[in-house]
Amino acid sequence: MHELSVVESMVGIVLKHAERNRARAVKKINLVLGEVSTVMEEPVRFYFEIISKGTIAEGAELFFKRTPLIGECGSCGERFKIVDYDLTCPKCNSDDCSIISGREFRVESIEID
Ligand SMILES: [Zn+2]
Repeated sequence: MHELSVVESMVGIVLKHAERNRARAVKKINLVLGEVSTVMEEPVRFYFEIISKGTIAEGAELFFKRTPLIGECGSCGERFKIVDYDLTCPKCNSDDCSIISGREFRVESIEID
């Protein structure tokens, strides 16, 4: 379960940010979770409850924003939604494309009290 270490670093980021802003409590954590990220929502919620216990992030609401798998063409710059892992540019047919979104898991913002 690699979500454990993922959630540990996530809570670390949240607490650092909250302390810097002299928060009394973290109300909500907005997360970005890519469509094909290896991180799963349920284990994140599970570990978050355990790891945040006794911190000011305890009881915070987790909001997951799902991002689609997006590729970018290295030849023409076209950005497109990747379907069935087909990394071919729909505009110019080049296969010089890279994934620019859809695999991420990160903290986007937090709401504090
Ligand atoms: Zn292209």
